[in-house]
Amino acid sequence: MKRTCKLKKHDQMLMHFEQTAKSYSMAEFDCHFRKIKRKEQVAKYLEQAGLHKWSRAHMDGRRYIVMTTNIAESINSVLRFARMLPVVHLIGEIINLLVKWFTERRELALKCTTTLCPNFGERKLRNRLDDASRMNVIKLNNVQYNVVDGDTDGLVHMTNNSCSCRKFQLEQLPCKHVVAVCRFLNQNVYSKASRYYTRNTWLDAYSDSIYPVQPQGMWVIPEDVRSRVVLPPMAKVMPGRRKKLRIPSQGESTITRKCSRYR
Ligand SMILES: [Zn+2]
Repeated sequence: MKRTCKLKKHDQMLMHFEQTAKSYSMAEFDCHFRKIKRKEQVAKYLEQAGLHKWSRAHMDGRRYIVMTTNIAESINSVLRFARMLPVVHLIGEIINLLVKWFTERRELALKCTTTLCPNFGERKLRNRLDDASRMNVIKLNNVQYNVVDGDTDGLVHMTNNSCSCRKFQLEQLPCKHVVAVCRFLNQNVYSKASRYYTRNTWLDAYSDSIYPVQPQGMWVIPEDVRSRVVLPPMAKVMPGRRKKLRIPSQGESTITRKCSRYR
């Protein structure tokens, strides 16, 4: 957006964009997007890109904080030097990388003593527990509660797992209003958090081990596999150097870097 709309590094429009993208409710979104509409070109660009692609409020699914368009891009970037190696060595590099990642993350999860992952759900929930202690809860019926929170009260439905602020539905982590109701009802607030935030799920994700490929002499190959002849694909090798840079996605522009000294 910065490049396409020619915005400067500290342009206020970028701040408005961040606020709009992170809004949970439609009312909050509309309020911030109105400020973006002051620059018609920026608003048009964002609308054409598709509101659901960048706005939390318009998104069809669920999202925490990180927006990744393509996980392959991240792996590609890490392996940018290894990609130049012959394929057997490249696979070796990928195995080493995954072993390192799995070990680091497994050890972190093992050291964790909280119910939820400390840097994600736990910290947020503890802050919300503090906020919720200052709120009043009014029981409307057996399942609905109104939580008085200054300007933005929350209407909580405990059976539907929803709150009018929409944080609970989108994050699957109790918002401060739901935390207040849990306190009011003497319910365990952790039971309302998605299992994806829990330390156990974190540990499960990295519980498997990745083993290195043994030397070829130790391989046990069944006869029917050994007898198959596998030829390289019938691909025409084009002249010139092989492409190292990835092909940009739809709507993505490439950056051309120029040397400032030798133009
Ligand atoms: Zn809420």
